[in-house]
Amino acid sequence: MLRRAESQQPIANSRPMNYPVRQQKFLHCLFEKKLDAFLVTHTSNLSYLCGFTGSTGALLASSGRWTFFTDGRYTQQARAEVCGARVVIRKGPVLAAVAAALEREKAAPRLPARALGFESGHLSVASRSSLASLLPKRVRLRAVSGLVENLRLIKESEEIARLRAAAQAGSCLFDSVLAIIKPGVPETSVAGELEYAARRAGVAGMSFDTIVASGPRSALPHGRASGRPIARRGFVVLDFGVILRNYCSDMTRTVHMGRPSREMGVMYEAVREAEQAGIDSVRHGVMAREVDRAVRKVLRRAGLVKYFTHSTGHGVGLEVHEPPRLSRDSQFRLEAGMVITIEPGVYLPGKGGVRIEDMVLVTANGAEVLTAAPRELIQL
Ligand code: ZN
Ligand code: ZN
Repeated sequence: MLRRAESQQPIANSRPMNYPVRQQKFLHCLFEKKLDAFLVTHTSNLSYLCGFTGSTGALLASSGRWTFFTDGRYTQQARAEVCGARVVIRKGPVLAAVAAALEREKAAPRLPARALGFESGHLSVASRSSLASLLPKRVRLRAVSGLVENLRLIKESEEIARLRAAAQAGSCLFDSVLAIIKPGVPETSVAGELEYAARRAGVAGMSFDTIVASGPRSALPHGRASGRPIARRGFVVLDFGVILRNYCSDMTRTVHMGRPSREMGVMYEAVREAEQAGIDSVRHGVMAREVDRAVRKVLRRAGLVKYFTHSTGHGVGLEVHEPPRLSRDSQFRLEAGMVITIEPGVYLPGKGGVRIEDMVLVTANGAEVLTAAPRELIQL
């Protein structure tokens, strides 16, 4: 059982990320936005800019210098991981340390920081007001969103290598989990076996709660595994991802228990064709909404578009859901080096649902599918 994933090759060493280059690019963004300083608090953005992978920290860019603040729990980890920033370990709240550092800077002869940007999408209202009350008077907070995320859109070659490895690990897990999907087995057991095999294969964790949705539950786009036993007939949707060397994978396959009815077979083929049309439309320079349109066009022809109730895909990287979004009104333009998902689904309430999801690398002339698992309907 689950032999293939367990016998995977040990995870090869990866090359280090080039943090100084990322930091330089970011400082350039600050200059363009007329920001004197910036405070990064979102964990995946900390990881991207300075390598820290713990869950509490703050990175301050001010006067062209970088300082990383964390507390005593992360002393060793911060010293081992943080690149290109001075590490400050604090006893009290991290934000008070940030404010104190800006206060000291104000006293220095150089120009004091005045406009301090912060990640509006990631700092709670309480933290924002506490920071505002601690800051020196001349420093004004400015809400900024998506600054680091924009840098993260185009993946570097090492990031692509890690995403490729994560996608590959996901595909191997899918192959191996097929053997345990049987009538009577609860969805949670399938999810548990899959996650156990993932850990045994050396992944750091799952990138989100594994979805195993069978029978009528397959019509729930986000049906987390429940205690429901898998029935003799009907679809089973498996949507899962792993985190490998900090990078996420995300894939969905839908299998059918027993022979599908004609209606269900037609529905599966329509989703498969829609997914392929989405992949075929991916290319450097194409608007993300065009990919969404290509997918919907196929489902509309099949009379199923009204049952496709979410967007076509999203970026994947340090986070399982990150920009660009591939939706009807997305303003993103695809560029070579982006890694995205294509994941159309059709959900017939009370009957069942189908979703197929692959990870795709955008290239100059098209798309490279990173998810290796087959897309033909598997009957169990
Ligand atoms: Zn997914
Ligand atoms: Zn997804």
